[in-house]
Amino acid sequence: MFYEGRIYRPPSEAKSIILQITVGCQHNACTFCTMYKEKSYRVKSHAEIKDIITTTIARDSDAERIFLADGDALAVDTLLLIEILDQLYANLPRLKRVGIYGGPKDILAKSTKELEALKAHGLTMVYLGVESGNEEILTSVCKGVTSEQLITAGQKVKASGLILSCTIIIGLGGKALSQVHALDTARVISSIDPHYLGALTLMVEPLAPLSKAIERGTFQLLTPFETLSEIRTLLEQLQVTQCVFRSNHASNYLPLRATLPFDREELLKSLDNVIEKQAIEQLCPEVWRGL
Ligand code: SF4
Repeated sequence: MFYEGRIYRPPSEAKSIILQITVGCQHNACTFCTMYKEKSYRVKSHAEIKDIITTTIARDSDAERIFLADGDALAVDTLLLIEILDQLYANLPRLKRVGIYGGPKDILAKSTKELEALKAHGLTMVYLGVESGNEEILTSVCKGVTSEQLITAGQKVKASGLILSCTIIIGLGGKALSQVHALDTARVISSIDPHYLGALTLMVEPLAPLSKAIERGTFQLLTPFETLSEIRTLLEQLQVTQCVFRSNHASNYLPLRATLPFDREELLKSLDNVIEKQAIEQLCPEVWRGL
């Protein structure tokens, strides 16, 4: 498959075929992110996408999962997305699931009816990067939206019947804002009440604007055990109906998986155990972490 630049996908899409329908990210301004810095945003043409589906993707007639990339593929015009979905289902008889990255601005720009139409044509899951629920952090990392807009975007996806997976970044407030980051993120995620919640732990590549603040000493990364304490506060505060929580991304120090709120006590106990014993041997070594 021909891809332009590096391709990213959520850990839970590891078994999916990735169909790149956009190149890069329209926003491309978050100070912690270097994923699409080398790309200029564009939507691939319908002819280009159709050609990839019929000549390459259709060859894998057993494919059950597709993931639509790049960064904010949901920004694509709804009618074109519907045509892409129809072509995927027409060419892949066993297709069961189509996921997509949806930036908060992309979701807010679509009506609930448009999102419902996408679901009716086979879109299954939207991945929304919340990152933090704290206003000061959202502004300082140039996320481009407020916590209220993140809540509205997440609730809109859920109201349309699509499955919603939110992502948050542990450590995004640094040492100074660690506790408010945990508390405000728990508040925002509770208001959204997503089906899935994935936690990444902040890793800053040299080309990310945030690395300058680290060099200057105005932003301090958390220690591994401080990241666990932040996760603990967040998990303790979350009020969700039924949410699968995962920290299985390669950036995390400790992989966790639980269905909240049902597994909360057991999860907190195991976290406390690692934190109290400072059980470094249970943590992912720094050299194994990755984005
Ligand atoms: S974090 Fe998401 S929205 Fe921000 S620049 Fe990266 S891909 Fe774009």
